Amino acid sequence: MQIAILNDKILPYEEVGHEYLDRGLFFGDGVYEVIRSYDGRIFALDEHIERFSASLKAIEITKVDINQVRDKIILAFAKSNIPNACIYFHITRGSGPRNHAGTDDLEPNFFLTVKELEDDTKMKTEGISVITYPDQRWKRCDIKSLNLLPNVMAKREAAKRDAFEAIFVNDEGFITEGSSSAFFAIHQKKLQTSPLSANILPSITRKFVVKAAANISLEIVDNSLTPQQAALCDELFIAVTTKDIVPVVKFDDKIIGDGNPGQYTKALAEEFRKFTIL
Ligand code: PLP
Repeated sequence: MQIAILNDKILPYEEVGHEYLDRGLFFGDGVYEVIRSYDGRIFALDEHIERFSASLKAIEITKVDINQVRDKIILAFAKSNIPNACIYFHITRGSGPRNHAGTDDLEPNFFLTVKELEDDTKMKTEGISVITYPDQRWKRCDIKSLNLLPNVMAKREAAKRDAFEAIFVNDEGFITEGSSSAFFAIHQKKLQTSPLSANILPSITRKFVVKAAANISLEIVDNSLTPQQAALCDELFIAVTTKDIVPVVKFDDKIIGDGNPGQYTKALAEEFRKFTIL
């Protein structure tokens, strides 16, 4: 007899619900997205859909109608009635007996939640602390994969050290990105961030930050920094969909600038806000 145990319950394997046999659970075999709304309007939906399609394609999950995904997002958001919402969704390759390669008959699983965003006023006005952490991830960080164990470990270490974010540093000694954010430095009126490559996620927020920077005449430089260089910059910030721009005032125990959010970071945040009310 084939057997399973779910927590304390023993049952025949055949009675295990398909949710437990999800390849997302066994292998992290799926991809996800996080979108947000500002005051009742979903922000950058097309960009997120495009990135999600690219992630699906990269891991060869084919049987997905992306227009249906879009419809589900819009429907769930409308039903939620939450003006400032965080919309999370993922698709896994499907459910089935544990087998690394999987089979062609699997039907992808879709999961979505709409939740209220947390208030981030304090962290935006006061700035946050970050730590550096070794980038122990795989070589395709451009895919928004459900495999997030290195990111989880980094974030847990940051929390232990009273920091909000962990900034990954690769084997060559350069900053790649945050564990769940893009990372930026401003020095002598130049905005610097890691160039897009397979080593980082093509952040949607980054795209709008770069536009905002051009609008306020900041020079934009695709440049990976070492932690030592970053700590000496005039201003630092992280960028992520759920919070847009968050100033960094402490970097591995080093105070950035005068310890308060910098003028250009604030100007960028204001400029960014304009995109969200279009
Ligand atoms: N980099 C990583 C590793 C992330 O997990 C995220 C967001 O979750 C980002 C960057 C920022 O991406 P986005 O601006 O699309 O939210």
